Amino acid sequence: MSDGGLLDRTADLARHFLHSLPDRPVGARADLPSLRRALGGPLPAAGAEAAAVIEHLARAADPGIVASAGPRYFGFVIGGSLPAALAADWLAAAWDQDAGLYACGPAAAVVEEVAAGWLLDLFGLPPEASVGFVTGGQMANFTGLAAARHAVLERAGWDVGEDGLIGAPAVDVVAGEEAHVTILTSLRMLGLGSRRVLRVAADRQGRMRPDELRRVLAGREGPAIVCTQAGNVNTGAFDPVGEIADIVHERGGWVHVDGAFGLWAAASAGLRRHVRGVERADSWATDGHKWLNVPYDCGIAIVRDAAAHKAAMTGRAAYLVQSSGGERDPQDWTPEFSRRARGFAVYAALKSLGRDGVADLVERCCRLARRMADALAGVPGVRILNEVVLNQVLARFEPAGGDGDAFTKAVIARVQREGTCWMAGTRWHGMNAMRISVSNWSTTEADIDRSAEAILAAARAEAAQQGGSKP
Ligand SMILES: *Cc1c(COP(=O)(O)O)cnc(C)c1O
Repeated sequence: MSDGGLLDRTADLARHFLHSLPDRPVGARADLPSLRRALGGPLPAAGAEAAAVIEHLARAADPGIVASAGPRYFGFVIGGSLPAALAADWLAAAWDQDAGLYACGPAAAVVEEVAAGWLLDLFGLPPEASVGFVTGGQMANFTGLAAARHAVLERAGWDVGEDGLIGAPAVDVVAGEEAHVTILTSLRMLGLGSRRVLRVAADRQGRMRPDELRRVLAGREGPAIVCTQAGNVNTGAFDPVGEIADIVHERGGWVHVDGAFGLWAAASAGLRRHVRGVERADSWATDGHKWLNVPYDCGIAIVRDAAAHKAAMTGRAAYLVQSSGGERDPQDWTPEFSRRARGFAVYAALKSLGRDGVADLVERCCRLARRMADALAGVPGVRILNEVVLNQVLARFEPAGGDGDAFTKAVIARVQREGTCWMAGTRWHGMNAMRISVSNWSTTEADIDRSAEAILAAARAEAAQQGGSKP
């Protein structure tokens, strides 16, 4: 087969998969041993024809492919891929640019520059802020917190880049009780430690309490970094970032916002109130691969103080924000050196949606989450545990006189096996819950209704099997 034939055939395989998304079982169908059998074996001594490799890969992997790109996947917080974003990502693979340096990929660098401006505009963040396109929310948090570490220590007269952390002034790192695990991972990687983080109590929805923050900060005078959250992974709730920023800035600290999905609320006039004051923070982390619906992997790190961002990420010309010709070297803003040109997919997604389309995507997912919550909440034995303020719903299933934890877990397992839709469980305030996240551009009202019915049918079947009363 010619190269052209191979790529045409591969496009057919991809198209076939995409067309199957609305109908195929949402969860994986194969178990671990069968996937190992299908894909494993010793490294062959002799190579194979490319077409045969791809045919085998597509066939052998298929039962282990999760339809998370499809309309009824509600697990974790995972978006699909907008058509324009997927197509641009194919081109990015074909072009195979090293997007680390302008010299290696001028178009990739300019597309990042343009997309960065669009994102700042969309989120209402300071136009002078710098933007790095990283692999995901974890690296976006890492990058923002690296800039924070650099800046607060610089203010204390210490150059952490040159002199490291050993012997440096102590930094108070503060995070909400409900901070995402990737904040803690980032702090570990940055040498700031996860155990010594000062945790601030949250309210019933998981929002950091400003009065508790004041209490935690009282009497502490040193450099401080406060990690806030826009969009709790369980409830979707928002820390009052504006109010927190005022408290922290009063004492010269840095405010970081983990807005992996929640920052996208800023793109909607109707939802913007949730992130009021978010533009007063110092750094922001968000994802492209969640709510913007670009393919993996894509996260976005934004820092108000571009010099601190660059100093934390690059070894070269640490205090020169622009290189001589004013061109962008993407590697100045990310932990990576050589890397994928992930700006193309972001650019294509934003251009295909436009400002109104992004707002519509975000608002539609929230409306659908509300619809799901309403469909479940009316049924006896089903309880919605959160205020559905965004795209996240926590549902708990409680048989009369039975164990709600075990029952909820069993219902989730049934739903996953049945295949109409897929979501995982979580713990919330000491209780098992089903966590439903509506983050996909292609999800419709019919998908929600069908999924709600599948969930309720699973609960009825579980109740019948247990011989208990029906929820
Ligand atoms: C998903 C998520 C992250 C991590 O993002 P990745 O893209 O998975 O690395 C961080 N914080 C929050 C609130 C998230 O939802």
